[in-house]
Amino acid sequence: MTSVLDRPDEFGRFGEFGGQYAPETLMPALKELTITFEEAWADPAFVDEYRHWLRDFVGRPTPLQHAERLSERLGCEVWLKREDLAHTGAHKINNGIGQALLTERMGKPRLIAETGAGQHGVATATAAAAFGLECTVFMGSVDMERQHLNVVRMELLGCEVVPVETGSATLKDAVSAAMRDWVTTVDSTHYSIGSVVGPHPFPWIVREFQRVIGEETIDQLDGRKPDHVVACVGGGSNAMGIFHPFASTGVDLIGVEAAGEGLDRRHGAAIGGGSPGVLHGSMSMMLQDGDGQVLEAHSISAGLDYPGVGPEHAYFAAEGLARYVSATDEEALFGVELLSRTEGIIPALESAHAIAWVANNKDALHGEMVVICLSGRGDKDVDSIAGLGSAG
Ligand SMILES: *Cc1c(COP(=O)(O)O)cnc(C)c1O
Repeated sequence: MTSVLDRPDEFGRFGEFGGQYAPETLMPALKELTITFEEAWADPAFVDEYRHWLRDFVGRPTPLQHAERLSERLGCEVWLKREDLAHTGAHKINNGIGQALLTERMGKPRLIAETGAGQHGVATATAAAAFGLECTVFMGSVDMERQHLNVVRMELLGCEVVPVETGSATLKDAVSAAMRDWVTTVDSTHYSIGSVVGPHPFPWIVREFQRVIGEETIDQLDGRKPDHVVACVGGGSNAMGIFHPFASTGVDLIGVEAAGEGLDRRHGAAIGGGSPGVLHGSMSMMLQDGDGQVLEAHSISAGLDYPGVGPEHAYFAAEGLARYVSATDEEALFGVELLSRTEGIIPALESAHAIAWVANNKDALHGEMVVICLSGRGDKDVDSIAGLGSAG
């Protein structure tokens, strides 16, 4: 039986969330993309080619590693799903490859994307280079500064990086700029969105391209069932990728949002500190004021610095299929240091939110088995961490 857990309904909704709140000019492209993806995902040749790229280019499966020293330190059994070891250093490439294959299938020569931390931009630029596609990435000028390394990587890969100066000059503004470009270039261009956000069919497509994370984890657990699966939530693609195959199995799914300076101050916790509304083409939870004006998010990690969250997460929260907690900037810095020094792995600031939440809740987790999605590696963050003069 097909349920909303397999795919959204015909209007692209997960319960009351999701949908298509998009300009008329984009509706034909969204329709074309829905049909293309439906056909591609049911086509064994397409799925084979996607799997081939994941294996030989991305380096999948990524390991599920027992973090022994961290487990000893915290008193629970911690396993790390090592997305940081995927090519380009984060889970984003799983989606990047899938979207490039869709672009090719639609016969479009150009890919565009938005990026926050730069990881989705790098993943898109990488896939574009590997498939011989033209590539333009929109990035907030604030993010270009704090993620300079990734700007250089994208340019080396032959991609044009367009600075976005509007609003807070971060991820939300980059998404808006990419959507504005797409409205006028839709005949030749595919918009590869970087998370489980945006109008239908994007949240569904990106989840399907990321669910390999959870499927591999289940295989690698070899029949063992974890008590908890923990992942950081920005737009929510690494979290939905690992959560979805575990949904309805009785495993406690925990999404960790960015509490920034604290939930009573500036933060990025759309579920924990937001309310229902429409942002970037779908109905979900978001940060907004009493008049429905989008509020600026804040997180130390550019990848979690977004005032919205994917509609399927809003649905999971409303239905109690997962629970959503948060970790502050300061806790994330502690998480970076903890994993670096116990395991010899420098995590991305985003992933460090999940590490920090587990460490802070070690008493409640005592003796239990916890799988953490280590969504990416921290090389991109070392300059900004050093600039803070903290984390040792
Ligand atoms: C982009 C990114 C995130 C946040 O995006 P999601 O869609 O919530 O996964 C988290 N971790 C890393 C390493 C990222 O690059």
